[in-house]
Amino acid sequence: MKNIIALLIVSSISFLTYSQNSDYTKYNNQIKQVDLENNFFEIEKINDQFYMLVGGGGNVGVFVSEDEVILIDNKYEIIEDILMASLRKITDKPIKYIINTHFHHDHSDGNRAFGKQGIPIISHQNAKKRMMEDAELYGGILEFIKGFVQPKYDSNSLPVITYDSKMTLSEGSEEIELYNFGNAHTDGDSIVVFKNSNIIHTGDAFVTYGYPFVDLNNGGSIKGLINFLGTLENMCDENTIIMPGHGGFSKKEDVTKLKNTLADLYNKTVVGLKNGLSYEEISKTIEETLNDAKVTKLNYIKSIDLELSKNNESMK
Ligand SMILES: [Zn+2]
Repeated sequence: MKNIIALLIVSSISFLTYSQNSDYTKYNNQIKQVDLENNFFEIEKINDQFYMLVGGGGNVGVFVSEDEVILIDNKYEIIEDILMASLRKITDKPIKYIINTHFHHDHSDGNRAFGKQGIPIISHQNAKKRMMEDAELYGGILEFIKGFVQPKYDSNSLPVITYDSKMTLSEGSEEIELYNFGNAHTDGDSIVVFKNSNIIHTGDAFVTYGYPFVDLNNGGSIKGLINFLGTLENMCDENTIIMPGHGGFSKKEDVTKLKNTLADLYNKTVVGLKNGLSYEEISKTIEETLNDAKVTKLNYIKSIDLELSKNNESMK
């Protein structure tokens, strides 16, 4: 368990450190360098059918069905060989299709490798739209992301199947449900529910690294994310296993905790702004519950203010 925690810390730090480069090629080379030292990603096992590949970007969910494999997310094109080597430690079966939880490069850049091979990619319709243009990510919450521009995807790297609010796929005895609950981490998030196995991959709509990044430049909403966490909580029971976008396997109680923390922060910010408090004064009214993240908390308060003023403008 200690190793797993250490690895999670390392993988979130590498996510943090290497995201700060706005030069995409340089960034990719750094990712490659770090992961080549490892050769394989850490493999976390749930049972003989479900695994999670941890490290070098977002968590990849692996579902081994009777004859084929289904992947949820695919990390980066540049480390495709490491991803495949890790997958081959689990199974020799071919990849049937890949689901993208959203358009961010640390989850879906691998499309640029797998799409070319003709492996079908599935995503929410807005995730595909975002992939069709260069996208500057919001740098107001996590400052190292400031200025990072994700280049658009070639046509052969784009999802070939998209959906609006819900999609159901059948795979042997497993029912796979994809849901989008509106604006949360981005405007094109999917959570992937393996109904019979009671396992959910949430993408970045639920993470465990502290204050979750919300991409306000690309349809993300802090209020929406809190609402989403409430919906996710209701979909889980005590036995549900959650694969988060970043971090280790989680449970319903972890979702509840994050939802309550963010709701408290959101509500206190709204009240503080109404009472004319400064960002720093508001920050002092909010208990520090997520890891040592004073700057991020302050940035969150500013970002809530930004989101509120955007919404007010759109209502005028
Ligand atoms: Zn993301």
